Amino acid sequence: MGKKIKSAITPTREQDYPGWYQEVVKASDMSENSPVRGCMVIKPWGYAIWENIMNQMDELFKKTGVKNAYFPLFIPLSYLEKEAEHVEGFAKECAVVTHHRLEPDETEGGLKPAGKLAEPLIVRPTSETIIGESMAKWTSSYRDLPILINQWANVVRWEMRTRMFLRTSEFLWQEGHTAHASREEAMERTLQMLDLYAKFVEEQLAMPVIRGRKTPSERFPGADDTTCIEAMMQDKRALQAGTSHFLGQNFAKGSGIKFQNEAGQEEFAWTTSWGTSTRMIGGMIMVHSDDDGLVVPPRVAPAHVVILPIVKKGGDNRPVLENAQRLKDVLEEKVYHGKPVRVEIDSRDIGGARGWDWVKKGIPVRIELGPRDIEQNSVFMARRDRPANAKESMNREDFISQITDILDHIQETLFNRAMAYQKENTFEMDDKNKFRKLFQKAKGYNNGAFVRAHWCGSDDCEALIKKELSVTIRCIPFDSPTEEGQCIYCDKASSRRVLYAKAY
Ligand SMILES: [Zn+2]
Repeated sequence: MGKKIKSAITPTREQDYPGWYQEVVKASDMSENSPVRGCMVIKPWGYAIWENIMNQMDELFKKTGVKNAYFPLFIPLSYLEKEAEHVEGFAKECAVVTHHRLEPDETEGGLKPAGKLAEPLIVRPTSETIIGESMAKWTSSYRDLPILINQWANVVRWEMRTRMFLRTSEFLWQEGHTAHASREEAMERTLQMLDLYAKFVEEQLAMPVIRGRKTPSERFPGADDTTCIEAMMQDKRALQAGTSHFLGQNFAKGSGIKFQNEAGQEEFAWTTSWGTSTRMIGGMIMVHSDDDGLVVPPRVAPAHVVILPIVKKGGDNRPVLENAQRLKDVLEEKVYHGKPVRVEIDSRDIGGARGWDWVKKGIPVRIELGPRDIEQNSVFMARRDRPANAKESMNREDFISQITDILDHIQETLFNRAMAYQKENTFEMDDKNKFRKLFQKAKGYNNGAFVRAHWCGSDDCEALIKKELSVTIRCIPFDSPTEEGQCIYCDKASSRRVLYAKAY
């Protein structure tokens, strides 16, 4: 009675949130640190989640007319320099290739770089400039526009402090790049892709997001406008889950993307770029997982169901193993959102640790199947959205016929839970002292809240808030109405609330 069930992950979220995160990643076997500082090894369980994200997102992109292409990993330094703000924004985190071979080092021994390049090459931190070079070549008339391109690739941004999935020096992403004949069309595309991201993240990753526009100081280097989606993690920090940029004519001018309009006059094109990365997986982990480990929403789960046949050492386990295989076959005939239900069988003879392994991997549904269940035509089911010890016996046929509904219900539960949490922890605030106190006290598991408060529009106020409280303006939410108010920092007049939070 009243016995506290020990959680599978140590430390718990409350004890040490960053430590908990590392343990969840490790215990789920998604990824591990690599010998290369700041880079990670994504293991099959983690990569399968990324594959599911890629496949589904790719389909959505293509429905809007976007086509995939591939551009070089290396960008000549002079390309990056074509847009002044852009090169300045990325200068501090560039990996630079300066040599192209190795030769024996006579003084130090071993090998040393040799064959100095005439022009250094940057390992792409993003590809606006090199894709812009191609777009310039492809565009001569308005008939060549729009160009709608996406690339699935890796990028490198030299980070000093890294955390798996959230911030790594090399990461996987997609970057979309489009060129248009008019400002309106480019702006429309910018918002269309943000909307696509928001829906994807909410529907597939079950992460509710706030859509908005970045302040000028938080814009992508070289963009005229940056829109974003922001999600609340369980420690109440914000995570930017995707961005879509309206680049105006800045990059078109830098790269010379010109076209003749219908009247025969030469004009610069209008471009956009938009991206999401493996960081979304970091967000998914932090939004849904608990003190027992990872929780994966069914829509992106590497597997939906694991069958755990009850095997006996030295016994004849063939009947139960064959029965488990039959159950797997029947379940795999079921279609979940256009794809077969994905089922694993784990017949390892390792006792209770087996069930816990799958809890920690976040698989949506676990099924125990023993001789007695087979005799009674039932299965013993546990759902990852419920406590680990909450198991229920179900009629086998009922389970089979309901599996896709069960998965949908888990998905819905995860989204609703995250949405309720975000709402509970989002406040409108007009009192300066309350604002300050909330964020001064914030640490560990409790990093304050999402606060909707006024901002006068000054870069200085924004910078001071960041410096004093480590709080940033995450975005100016699209749903924030025009209203009279005073800046939460300097009391000057403001016409709109912005979203303040601590962030990853
Ligand atoms: Zn102010």
